Amino acid sequence: MEKIIYLDNNATTKVDERVLEKMLPFYCEQYGNPSSMHSFGGNVSKYLAHAREQVADFVGAQNPYEITFTGCGTESANIAIRGALEINKTRKHIITTKVEHPCVMNTYKWLEKRGYKVTYLDVNSEGELLVDELKDVITDDTALVSIMWANNETGVVFPVEKAAKIIKDKNPKTFFYVDGVQASGKIPMDVSKANIDMLGISGHKFHAPKGVGALYVKRGILLPPLILGGHQERGLRPGTENVSGIVGIGEAAQLAKSYLEDEGTRVKALRDELERGIVKKVFNAKINSTKAQRVPNTSNISFEYIEGELMLLHFADAGICASSGSACTSGSLEPSHVLKAMGVPFTCLHGSIRFSLSRFTTKEEIDYALSVIPPIIEKINGYSPYQKELKELKELRNF
Ligand code: PLP
Repeated sequence: MEKIIYLDNNATTKVDERVLEKMLPFYCEQYGNPSSMHSFGGNVSKYLAHAREQVADFVGAQNPYEITFTGCGTESANIAIRGALEINKTRKHIITTKVEHPCVMNTYKWLEKRGYKVTYLDVNSEGELLVDELKDVITDDTALVSIMWANNETGVVFPVEKAAKIIKDKNPKTFFYVDGVQASGKIPMDVSKANIDMLGISGHKFHAPKGVGALYVKRGILLPPLILGGHQERGLRPGTENVSGIVGIGEAAQLAKSYLEDEGTRVKALRDELERGIVKKVFNAKINSTKAQRVPNTSNISFEYIEGELMLLHFADAGICASSGSACTSGSLEPSHVLKAMGVPFTCLHGSIRFSLSRFTTKEEIDYALSVIPPIIEKINGYSPYQKELKELKELRNF
């Protein structure tokens, strides 16, 4: 395989080999159904129980039964949001932010079409949540607030503990869901301390396989299931358990907790080195959200006056995997709703790239990226229709 420098860990991560090793026995050896009466199957349930404890410890749940295994972060969000509204049936107002992942955003849009009134909280130009706005918008009719813990595009961390306090002070019966998908494995999470009602995470973002997620639901909140079936996961997520995946997410959660310090020091230092190196060598590069608190692995860089997709293709030719915030909708490239909400100028919007590192990222990889990115950008600058503006910018920044 050609050289791959994987800087797209917010999209998905490599499965840690130690995780895979724990999972393998559950395919061809211990493949019994945990619900079976015979011990060959029944024995498997103790591995599910262990994984539940590992995930509970990872997110700060007080009881392992507050953890339900799901298929992904999207499913966790749907069970939590739609379930909470089933409980709070008479209330018709819900709140979220302008920068949520589509799994929350599109669920809210769907609810809006079904008669819910939605308030979308703003972010500032750094991508920080204007959390105090919550005080003014929560009413007696507010059923639910949903806020992400860390943004997938900018890495900006939102003050969920402060949000929980505002919500519970104003209206204790308003539920609070936190999308923890991009915070997990990057910063410490403690749902009990933060007083969060429900939290979703996704295994493939922290070196577990794809196809397994988890949902924390605070004891006492009895969510109804989204799909109907048997008794698995206490009826909240029926269907025969993805045993190997669950064992994997448990192991990955335990490992991720032990790597949090590495993430906050070594990974952050590599991210900062990448950013410093790029702004030093590329006159039209601007790092987004530098003044905000960010998860340590994420960097969002706007390359002014050029197209993100063109950059990604050239990066891919050099073996570098990164991503842009644009979504390809019906043939047109829609700029990122996150950067738009931050008021990022038009000249930067289309040329924003997200680099996201992981515990597997090495100094050699960052050095390599820094050796190939500046010449690529210089070449692409040459294709830009904004030559006059680029020349002025170069002079302005003394290059
Ligand atoms: N929430 C955030 C912030 C994400 O970044 C993602 C995935 O990128 C999700 C939710 C959805 O997770 P999954 O891919 O497991 O459905």
